[in-house]
Formats: sequence, C-alpha cells, structure tokens
Amino acid sequence: MTRARQPSDLDVAGRLGWVDAPSPIEALPALAERLGLAWVGAKRDDRLPVLQGGTKPRKLDFALAEPRLADAARWASAGAIGSGSLVALTAAAAKLGRRLDAHVFWTGLSTGVVDNLAFTASGPTELRYYGSRAALALRRPTVLLGDTCRGAAVIPPGATSPTGMLGLVRAGLELADQVRAGELPEPDRLYVALGSGGTAVGLAVGLALAGLRTQVVGVGVVERTLSPLRRLRALREGLLAKLDALGIARPESPIRLAVDRRFAGAGYAVPTRASLDACADLEAEGLSLEPIYTGKAMAALIAAARAGGASRVLFWQTQRARALPHDARWRDRLPPALAHRLALAEDPARLARRRLILGLGAVAAAVGAGVRFTGYPALAGFRGTVLATWEAHVFRAAAEAILPPATDAGAFDAIAGRVDRYLVGMPPSVQREIHAMLAIVEHGTPIGGRLARFTRLTPADRARLLDGLAARGGLLAQVYSGMRDLTYLAYYQQPATWIALGYEGPRVALDYDPRGPDRSLHPAYEDLRAPRGALPRGIVR
Ligand SMILES: *Cc1c(COP(=O)(O)O)cnc(C)c1O
Repeated sequence: MTRARQPSDLDVAGRLGWVDAPSPIEALPALAERLGLAWVGAKRDDRLPVLQGGTKPRKLDFALAEPRLADAARWASAGAIGSGSLVALTAAAAKLGRRLDAHVFWTGLSTGVVDNLAFTASGPTELRYYGSRAALALRRPTVLLGDTCRGAAVIPPGATSPTGMLGLVRAGLELADQVRAGELPEPDRLYVALGSGGTAVGLAVGLALAGLRTQVVGVGVVERTLSPLRRLRALREGLLAKLDALGIARPESPIRLAVDRRFAGAGYAVPTRASLDACADLEAEGLSLEPIYTGKAMAALIAAARAGGASRVLFWQTQRARALPHDARWRDRLPPALAHRLALAEDPARLARRRLILGLGAVAAAVGAGVRFTGYPALAGFRGTVLATWEAHVFRAAAEAILPPATDAGAFDAIAGRVDRYLVGMPPSVQREIHAMLAIVEHGTPIGGRLARFTRLTPADRARLLDGLAARGGLLAQVYSGMRDLTYLAYYQQPATWIALGYEGPRVALDYDPRGPDRSLHPAYEDLRAPRGALPRGIVR
C-alpha cells in the first residue's frame, strides 16, 4: 500500500508558500434538509487569509514563483473591470513591491464589480481600458497571447496556466486530507464555477490524484466559445505534462469533470434570475455569494439536487472575502473613458441628457468651422464607391494615430479601400451615419479645442483628439468607437497583421472562390459564411 499523496508533494514545483492551513469545510445542514440531501457543505476559500481570500491566491501561489514572473518588476494581465483575478494580482503586486498593468474591458455592473474595480484602481496598478473584450483582443493581443506586453511579463487571463493550476491540484489533495480526517464525507459531486476553466480542471486532476471518486461539475459562467471543451482538454493535457515534468506520477483514477452550461444565461457578467435567487437563498444560510460566478454555480447545485442523483454534495466557495479596502479617490485613477462610462452606468438618466446636448454641440461645431470637403490630393491606390477622397484621408490619418506603427508604408494607404469595400453592402442609413461621423472627426476639431482639420494635425494630436471624444461619452464616444472599429477591421484584414494575433490565416486559399469548384472541399467554411446580403447583428435595412 503506497502512502497517500500529500499537498506538500506539490512543493517540488516551487511556490511562494502563501496558502498554508487548509480552508475550512462548513456543513450547511439547513440547505441539505431543504434539498433532501444527506449532506451539503462548502469549502470556504473565502476564508483563506491571503490576497483578500478566494480561490485565485491558490493559482498565484505557484504561478508567481515561476522565474519568468518572480524576476519581473512589472506584470501585465487582462480581465473584466470587476475581475477577481486582477484583484488578487493587485494584492500580490502590493505585497511583493511590483507594478501591474491591468488591461480591463467593460462589463455591466452587478454586486461586487465596482468594489473589485475600486480595489484594483487603488493598488500599484496602471489601468488601461477597452470598451469590450473583443476590443481588447484586437488592440492588445499580446496581453492575451504573448509572454510580454509593453515590457511587462504577462500573466494569462484568470491566472490559468499549467503552473497556476498546480495550486488547484494541491487544493484537491488538501480536500482528500480533510475527507480522511473525517471533516466531511467523500462527496459524490463537487460544484464549482467555470470561467477560464483552470479551477475546475485543476481540482478534477487533484481529486483523481488523491484517488477520490468525486465528480467535479464545472458550472459554465461564460459563453461557450470562451471555454470550449477543446480548451478544457488542452488545459488538462498541459497540466498533466507539467506533473510529468515535476516527476509526479499521473493519476491512476479517472479524472471526473463534467461541464454544465445551462446556468450561464446570456454570458459572462450577466446575472440570471436563478443566480440572484441562489445568492439571496444562501445569504440566509450565512454564505455570501455574488451573482456572476458563485451564484450561477449554486443555482446549478440546487437544480441538480431537486432532480436527484447525488446525496453528498460539496460547493467550492471560490469568492473572495466580503469587504475590500480602497482609496477614497480611486475614481480619479481611472482612465477618463472608463470613469465616464462608469458614471453613466451608475446614473442612466445622465446618459439621455448628454446624448442630446452633445449631439447638438457636435453639429454646431462642425457647421461653425465651415465644412469644406475640397483640396484633398488623390490617395495612392484608392478609388472609393461609398467613401469620397477626403473621407479616405480621414481614415488614413486615424490609422496613423491609433494603429501600431506600420511595418510597410502601404499598410495605412490600404485601410480606406478595405473600409469602403465593407460599407458597399451596408444600407443607405448606415452609410449616411458614416459620412456624418467622418465630418465630425474632420471638422469637429473645435470640440477638442483645435481649429485645424483632423487630417492636418500631427498623429499624436489626432490620438489625443480621438481619446477626448471617447472620454466625452454619448454620441461623441460612438463616433470614436465607430472610427476605431472600422480602422481595426480593415487593419486586421491584412495578412501582415495576423502574426500579432497569433492567427495562422484562413484554411482556404486567399484567392478561394466561394462559387468555384473548390466549394465542396470546405464544408465547415461554407457553414460559417454569412448568406449573401446578410448584415451584421443590430443593423436593419
Ligand atoms: C476566477 C473565479 C472563478 C473561476 O475560475 P476559473 O479558473 O477562471 O474557471 C470562480 N469564482 C470566482 C469568484 C472567480 O473569481
């Protein structure tokens, strides 16, 4: 009989030693009674006394001990504005005297989101703001895919890496110890929220390594496309390879991980009725949940208990401790565009008022400047169907201001032509909006305190002006995002830019003719292709 695996077996990997005593197990007898289960309890990672608690410190305990990160003075990581991972990293940076570039994207506000943002903004951090997850991926691919981003060592989203997941393998062994010590019965099932997937995969491997038969149920809290099964399999294989490298034998028992996606609702950061109900329910039992991760996981546990099938069920409380400290003036540290959007989201009435005022202001400014669309030279290689020559110049000027420096001079010249091709299929109402948008950018410079046309400013002044539009919110912020999105759309159509995205290019040849004989060779591509005349979501003819 070989000796049982111990949490300390993982120490060969090197860790900071931040996670020490096991997090407590708390039985929830009233809930068990209500659900008709033999036993229900929670593994209280919110009581871990490091980095504000929660499960993320378990990953960082190992991840930050890796030489690549241990030796870096500056880290970079991406997450939602209310990201728990960025909270833990902020606390870690404060503890170790490092700085963190926090690349944050917008999500709707719900319980805990503003608290997390306030804490992150109060720490040794630089916040960089993006209007959406897609905008972040397009504008800063290296913080998602690279090793370094603007000179800072990158920590992947959710701190999910093979090394970080070792913290959850250790947690699985810790739980097995508690089962052996009689603190809880061996659970039939363990419910845990599944975001990037590192927590659920790491726990499932840890429990298998300990020889427990517990089925881990990862409750999806994000859109399926963000954590497809193939990604979870890749995480598992990466983790097993890491164990091999450390000389730790792979588990002999099967790794039992099931994924339940029925409780994700509309996707990440969007609470569901069931999740809000679960939060209210468990508050009464003395367990504090939030609606984005733990509420959804608990909703799945409750629904499954009603359906029967398991009798001893463990809930993994991944949520951080309740109150987070923050600086009284944290809002002053936010990028202006984020501060503005936050203020509007917290007071929707303001949005309607500003829309109207700014709409009128922009038109008045454009007229006051004397709108002239003449005197623009031809642009190399550009012959527009929708866009006039002056409009092509505006796109070229915007590209110089907001895109990474071009590696070949032709790259910026080609932007307007590609935007034009995209606009050809758009309804006239959309084309009219684009013309108005370009007039505001080119001749609306007095809004930003400048009298010259946009195309005559230096690239740095143009960038400042566009940022200024974003910060004003409402209509002007829409002008800014319209310019930016179209410019990026055209930019990332150019094969030379794909390498920065880690994109290997289409599986079909660039000269592929969708009506030609090659068609039958690419059924999957044909499935993806929009039907002729289809419009992007949200646009009506
Ligand atoms: C990050 C997080 C999780 C899930 O972690 P993943 O490893 O990304 O799947 C669960 N709950 C809370 C509260 C979290 O912050």
